[in-house]
Amino acid sequence: MAEFTLELNDDQKQVRDWLHGFAADVIRPAASEWDEREETPWPVIQEAAKVGIYSLDFYAQQFFDPTGLGIPMALEELFWGDAGIALSIVGTGLAAVGVLANGTEEQIGTWIPQMYGDVDDVKVAAFCSSEPDAGSDVASMRTRAVYDQAKDEWVLNGTKTWATNGGIAGVHVVVAVVDAELGSKGHASFIVPPNTPGLSQGQKFKKHGIRASHTAEVVLEDVRVPGHCLLGGKEKLDQRLARARESAASGGERVKNAAMATFEASRPAVGAMAVGTARAAYEVALDYAKTRTQFGRPIIDNQGVAFQLADMRTQIDAARLLVWRASWMATTGKPFTSAEGSMSKLYASETAKKVTAQAVQILGGNGFTREYPVERMHRDAAIYTIFEGTSEIQRLVIARTLSGMPIR
Ligand SMILES: Cc1cc2nc3c(=O)[nH]c(=O)nc-3n(C[C@H](O)[C@H](O)[C@H](O)COP(=O)(O)OP(=O)(O)OC[C@H]3O[C@@H](n4cnc5c(N)ncnc54)[C@H](O)[C@@H]3O)c2cc1C
Repeated sequence: MAEFTLELNDDQKQVRDWLHGFAADVIRPAASEWDEREETPWPVIQEAAKVGIYSLDFYAQQFFDPTGLGIPMALEELFWGDAGIALSIVGTGLAAVGVLANGTEEQIGTWIPQMYGDVDDVKVAAFCSSEPDAGSDVASMRTRAVYDQAKDEWVLNGTKTWATNGGIAGVHVVVAVVDAELGSKGHASFIVPPNTPGLSQGQKFKKHGIRASHTAEVVLEDVRVPGHCLLGGKEKLDQRLARARESAASGGERVKNAAMATFEASRPAVGAMAVGTARAAYEVALDYAKTRTQFGRPIIDNQGVAFQLADMRTQIDAARLLVWRASWMATTGKPFTSAEGSMSKLYASETAKKVTAQAVQILGGNGFTREYPVERMHRDAAIYTIFEGTSEIQRLVIARTLSGMPIR
């Protein structure tokens, strides 16, 4: 097991600097254009694939970094470049984590490479859990998966919403109800392979921020997938459902549910994205405050401005430490006895919202225009307190974990 240290090793520093270079030279200059176009920045994803940043190998390397800092460090740098473009680059990872968390080795080996495609034919993937009436309340999910034993196929019907890359993805990972009596314990995840009949894109959303990332409804009408597309396999599902039924009858053992396992693994990662956006806005504000002159002196000469910057930087560093702690705990198998993953996501996302708003204020009128990037960063930052569990849901999880009480 790796010793904990806050000092990045030489390999990590090299990766961080390489990613920072890509973020500064390729992502940041394209940010405004793709934000205005509100389209997936395919040329930037292709560029990322060419240099090896958009690839299974790269994420696997970071994922298996024994210190746990590979993924948060990579995400911070890419999202420092631009949140919308970075989400287009890393959105496939959410679907990949869904397969890693619940799939067999064979499923992992078959589907994850297809999610990324290859340099000459880049693909993206989507993870579809949320529904119009099942956002925070995952147990209200209605999309059904029914097993057709004669054909060894699953038949999926329902409407998913808010799916990052939904409809433009090759592989979709879809969470569906297999036993409605069991609430969220009766859910299972399925691979819907590319070009499967019955899956279509519904509404594409016009958004407040991260507009370079595609978000849409996914409609499933009698979508038939082979039995081997059930993540984890039928035998494991049957065993899990049997345990859940027993547990429901006795009020005993808790059963892990597929969608929550995916969200738990990705929470500190969202915190790292938020740290990237917050740091980007802080840096612009610091530079501006040192150069903008009013009343014959740089505005940073005023404590009212300088102290804001001091608080911004302190909160960003605190957020990063919480994210790194949670990522280190996840990698080294420490139990999240105080919901440290949720804490990191809560604090980092709220920090990003606050810091980007302060950056707009420090730039004055310029901060309110699209001539300067903080306006976009402020719009982008609003997503972090919403997706992968809202701030209120993080607080619920933390409060329940700390108290052991079923707080509502
Ligand atoms: C840009 C974007 C991308 C997304 N990408 C994906 C994706 O790839 N895949 C996917 O499956 N989903 C995705 N989501 C969905 C996202 O995870 C949900 O939007 C989020 O979980 C909140 O659900 P909701 O929007 O239905 O809000 P609701 O659950 O309706 O919440 C509305 C408000 O009520 C509050 N609230 C709800 N319940 C409680 C409670 N018990 N206590 C206190 N407050 C409460 C919430 O905190 C929130 O403020 C994405 C969303 C967006 C906006």
